[in-house]
Amino acid sequence: MTAPATSIAIVGTGYVGLTTGACLAKLGHQVTCADIDADKIDLLNRGEIPIVEEGLAEVVADARAAGRLEFVLGAATAAAGADIVFLCVPTPQGDDGSADLSYIQAAATEIGPSLRPGSIIVNKSTVPVGSTRVVERAVRRDDVHVVSNPEFLREGTAVRDFLHPDRVVIGAADRDAAERVAALYAGLDATILITDPASAETIKYAANGFLAMKISFVNAVAAMCEAVGADVAAVVQGIGSDTRIGSAFLNPGPGWGGSCFPKDSRALVRIAQDHGYNFSMMRGVIEVNDQQRSRMVDKVIRALDGHERSVLSGSRVGVLGLTFKAGTDDLRDSPSISVIRDLIHFGADVTAYDPTVIDPLHPARAAALDGIALCADPYAAATDSDVVVILTEWPEFKELDLDKLATVMAGKAIVDTRNVLDPTAVRSAGLAYDGVGRR
Ligand code: NAD
Repeated sequence: MTAPATSIAIVGTGYVGLTTGACLAKLGHQVTCADIDADKIDLLNRGEIPIVEEGLAEVVADARAAGRLEFVLGAATAAAGADIVFLCVPTPQGDDGSADLSYIQAAATEIGPSLRPGSIIVNKSTVPVGSTRVVERAVRRDDVHVVSNPEFLREGTAVRDFLHPDRVVIGAADRDAAERVAALYAGLDATILITDPASAETIKYAANGFLAMKISFVNAVAAMCEAVGADVAAVVQGIGSDTRIGSAFLNPGPGWGGSCFPKDSRALVRIAQDHGYNFSMMRGVIEVNDQQRSRMVDKVIRALDGHERSVLSGSRVGVLGLTFKAGTDDLRDSPSISVIRDLIHFGADVTAYDPTVIDPLHPARAAALDGIALCADPYAAATDSDVVVILTEWPEFKELDLDKLATVMAGKAIVDTRNVLDPTAVRSAGLAYDGVGRR
């Protein structure tokens, strides 16, 4: 079934907004994507894609060629011509852990006067319970509806996730508005769950909280494996083959990060607290994740034959991987950056390589990368290093020439926080190996 074409505005053309806009255009809708970043809009209008996201460039190019996708500066311009307006702006973590709704409020205030009567505003940003009311108040219109439609796409597989969703969640007080939003997805083979706004908003946080919990759980199990001499790969295989548990999201590593889990897990704790519930389990999930990042620093210290952080002073660490996971260029709250910041804080010199982080640097990344010497390939990052640390699971790291690595390094140790290398092969190249939860 194909969807009847609808005129759509997307406010905020980032990871979520650009994917949503391009994919809705692919489904046959007429889409205008807006942003406040003039450089981003210029880039998109020149046919370039500002982010690394598999398959997105093709979807954008096809939709533009078909005349169904355009990019404009400013939300009001886009909203004026639309039947449905998606808010895809940031909801970063506020100082008290709650979601900062200032971008949502600013965007809603801006589009209010230009909205068509009867149009629908869709909250696709991740927003706490009660945010449909926040938007309603900001737009100051009683002839439009506000609907919650949280997004579950993952960076790196965003296009595929959008076009083949496990489910589409729509929360609305008005059934007709919910069905108009549901109709946008008629071209997809997707389960559509229509509920009330509070439930839709809670689903998004609960989903991210649960996924973060799975990763924290397996990282805690990995720590236990190290203590008792068990092998985490065998343990994960053993528990993951239980259909009640499942094997997805059970990869041990340096801890979860990225633009969503850290802020959403803290927002979940805060939302619960604001409504009188102490979500202690979620607090534990966050605590385990913080510990996991520190445990990775401790592994580097041990690889340098030390027990104290002082051993880092004057050491040289070659880092492979900067993004919070493979398949994206996103550095936001990356565990890699967090570990590196600690290493630098305690006096280490860090040289690093990541396939998506190359010169010239975008100014937005400058703060995260401050003090890190970027290299053009893994061997350059490893040259003269006392220890090499793998912090992102880029597939190319599985193919490293370990003999070459051992030759260029000054020291002889690898810390593999993603368990991408074969420990036996590493040791055969004359290097000491430490993974996560591996014997
Ligand atoms: P992003 O930072 O990549 O993009 C947001 C864009 O909004 C930016 O380009 C910014 O310039 C623009 N913007 C801000 N204010 C604006 C305004 N008033 N008018 C027009 N544009 C404006 O953020 P993102 O990663 O796409 O996340 C957006 C929302 O989606 C967040 O709430 C996030 O939690 C949620 N989300 C993100 C992901 C993900 O994987 N990135 C997945 C699901 C949900």
